Amino acid sequence: MIIVMKPNAPKDAVQKVTSLIEEKGLTAHLSEGREVTIIGVVGDKTKLEGDNLILLPYVDKLVPITESYKLSNKKFHPNPSRVTVGNHVIGPDTLTVMAGPCAVETEEQLLTIAREVKKAGAHFVRGGAYKPRTSPYSFQGLEVEGLRYMAEAKKETGLNTICEVIDEKSIEAAVKYVDMIQIGARNMQNFQLLREAGRSGLPVLLKRGLAATIDEWLNAAEYIIAEGNPNVVLCERGIRTYETSTRNTLDLSAVPVIRAKSHLPIIVDPSHATGVRAYVEPLAKAAVACGADGLMIEVHNDPEHALSDGPQSLTFSQFEDVMAHLRPYIQLAERKL
Ligand code: PEP
Ligand code: MN
Repeated sequence: MIIVMKPNAPKDAVQKVTSLIEEKGLTAHLSEGREVTIIGVVGDKTKLEGDNLILLPYVDKLVPITESYKLSNKKFHPNPSRVTVGNHVIGPDTLTVMAGPCAVETEEQLLTIAREVKKAGAHFVRGGAYKPRTSPYSFQGLEVEGLRYMAEAKKETGLNTICEVIDEKSIEAAVKYVDMIQIGARNMQNFQLLREAGRSGLPVLLKRGLAATIDEWLNAAEYIIAEGNPNVVLCERGIRTYETSTRNTLDLSAVPVIRAKSHLPIIVDPSHATGVRAYVEPLAKAAVACGADGLMIEVHNDPEHALSDGPQSLTFSQFEDVMAHLRPYIQLAERKL
């Protein structure tokens, strides 16, 4: 961290800051300009927690040099991570496709969808058994019953399964039935839930919060990894902006930015990002082209009657077309489907 003093700060004010730093066992490197003095601080910054340096006389600003996230940081882990789920590897050489309904509605519905997305080339069947809906009156999911259907779908198709979890109870249940858990956008900064997901032992898909910066997102990943679970995959799913033509605004720049800052795999969800079926294919292609490690796409047997997110859900034939149209992009990206 660098501490910038206000112009013409008196020597005793600078001295007060450097003494405090040294008392805590850190080193202060002074650089005195004609008007402004800056102090470079080297050492464990957490020792300064509670000192509120910004409140000391003549301190102008504190400039952090290193990020607060370490375990998810590329600086300390330069090679891209691979996250293994069953016999599938999510990572730099593969293009992982997770597809399925927004919500698990019936056993029959999920099994039909799982069979079809498998035929089209998906590696995972997704489906929400716990649905954190905007309105408390909307369908909230089948809960454990939905998880059981996910396990059935795996048994029948061999696909990996992924489900969103919303609290400790749903994590305990998910551990018994699915291969990977998802933390949804609305819970990205539910720090207790992140810790519990870290302790679950299952790989975690961490969606970006509706209004989260990339650094906040990587700090959220840090909570999971800090519990001893390195198997975290990030998912860009659009952020809130002033634009209303799409449900959210897909921030594709997050893909190269994450690549520069972190070793964690990142996939893109063009379904929740846009809320519009017709925009899924172009953005899926763009996601592959800019280096995403995978895609999450909502597919439904009967989108017109889906209990949630029908308008953004692809039919089976639309999904099949999208997968076929993606192949040349996947090939160009030198990834294996
Ligand atoms: C979902 O994937 O079903 C979902 C609710 O997504 P998000 O958390 O991105 O809104
Ligand atoms: Mn959905």
